[in-house]
Amino acid sequence: MFTRYDSLYLGGAWAAPASDARIAVVSPNTGETIGEVPEATHADADAAVTAARRAFDGPGWRDHDRAAALRRFADAIEARKDGFAHLVAAQNGMPIAFASQLEANFPATLLRYYADLIAGDQEEARPGLLGGTVRVRREPVGVVAAIVPWNFPQTLGFMKIAPALAAGCTVVVKPSPETVLDSFLLAQAAIDAELPAGVLNIVPGGRDLGAYLVTHPGVDKVGFTGSTEAGRDIAEKCGRLLRPVTLELGGKSAAIVLDDADLDLATIGQDLFLATLANNGQTCYLGTRVLAPRTRYTEVVDALTEFAASLNVTDSLDPDAQIGPMVSARHRERVEGYIAKGRAEGGRVTTGGRRPAGRDQGWFVEPTVFADVDNDATICREEIFGPVLAVIPYRDEDEAVRIANDSDFGLGGTVWSADPQRALSLARRIETGTIGVNRYLPDPAAPFGGVKASGIGRELGPEGLAAYQQLKSIYC
Ligand code: NAD
Repeated sequence: MFTRYDSLYLGGAWAAPASDARIAVVSPNTGETIGEVPEATHADADAAVTAARRAFDGPGWRDHDRAAALRRFADAIEARKDGFAHLVAAQNGMPIAFASQLEANFPATLLRYYADLIAGDQEEARPGLLGGTVRVRREPVGVVAAIVPWNFPQTLGFMKIAPALAAGCTVVVKPSPETVLDSFLLAQAAIDAELPAGVLNIVPGGRDLGAYLVTHPGVDKVGFTGSTEAGRDIAEKCGRLLRPVTLELGGKSAAIVLDDADLDLATIGQDLFLATLANNGQTCYLGTRVLAPRTRYTEVVDALTEFAASLNVTDSLDPDAQIGPMVSARHRERVEGYIAKGRAEGGRVTTGGRRPAGRDQGWFVEPTVFADVDNDATICREEIFGPVLAVIPYRDEDEAVRIANDSDFGLGGTVWSADPQRALSLARRIETGTIGVNRYLPDPAAPFGGVKASGIGRELGPEGLAAYQQLKSIYC
């Protein structure tokens, strides 16, 4: 199926793009072009920001029944959930069963969650310590530029769009060129939900367009998810402008297996998968450094080897796919480069490490496990963003904590143990923004984000709403 659009969603309606520039979307399963859309230019971004500015400044959105609008938007998205799952899986290689669970559902869940959260009063009266009353108001930050990566385009988009709209902000979304098709379905849902004009605008484009929005004079706040490198660039620019910014960046998290952990794949397989290899390893929070006690090192390596080798690597649109292709040929080369480096630095590949036999199309990489690696190895320091795990031995819990914390990143992580209390105690010692005990799944009700090079600020939960609000104190 070929998907084609010729207009952009700007100011609440389909609008002619300012130029003839186009983005072609290529299937990671076959290498064939599966869609084409207009590429937004600076002029289109200007139009989007102007529309968002007008919607924010004018009467309307702030006084609108936003909760009702968010719920209508959720319904319109839900009505298209199969379309979202299909388009995301077709573009970035996410197995469609996973896309159907996550990408097709998370946006509506978030919209309804934030609709509920704004039901309360956004102004609170406190007795002043110096007499009188102080009224503390939560006001929307303004026009938001939401810059989104390709790996979870809908989920990560809505981690910005839902709280920003709930807060009363207006939004310009810039999807990644790799995953633009689903953003047009999103536009159609916004039209059907009758979101007021200019409240949401979508400008498909690449880095240059993202950078243009970051410093745009009409933008008040930047919400960014992507690589640490781009995040540093954006932080630098926002720092100079004193422009609020939320940055969700890369990771290299630790999955710490304690000496009493259950390694029976029949019991832990699904949770292990979600915590270490979900979305073909193209997920920021995965525990790709597996820390194993020396006393059970061989057992852990064997279990992971069996587990990785058992996964069904196939076309992401196949309902039975567990591992699909890498998003692009260039990204597969990058992942293969890391596998070569892991070998060159002395790591032992126990399974995978190649392209799957008999597949001459698509950008597939076998799930790969490295044993006999040290935490200093390049594959343990840098984010690979592919289905590659490294098993690192440790002596005792203190050493496990030291190795886990010896990373530039701090985004996710897990602790695996038969004793959840013991695992919880250890989880508290890990320098990270999020961590799981015997499972890992970001929850909409809890703040998500990273420490160190994994980012600044939080999304999700009430904290994610606060990120799009500013406080005003009125002394009465
Ligand atoms: P990327 O940084 O190349 O691009 C992300 C988005 O930012 C894209 O829309 C891109 O066009 C835009 N962009 C790139 N450079 C920019 C710049 N200098 N200024 C403004 N916009 C810019 O990342 P990617 O390759 O698309 O995504 C993968 C990365 O995202 C990984 O590093 C991954 O860990 C990270 N990620 C983080 C989280 C999280 O929540 N922490 C979640 C998913 C992905």
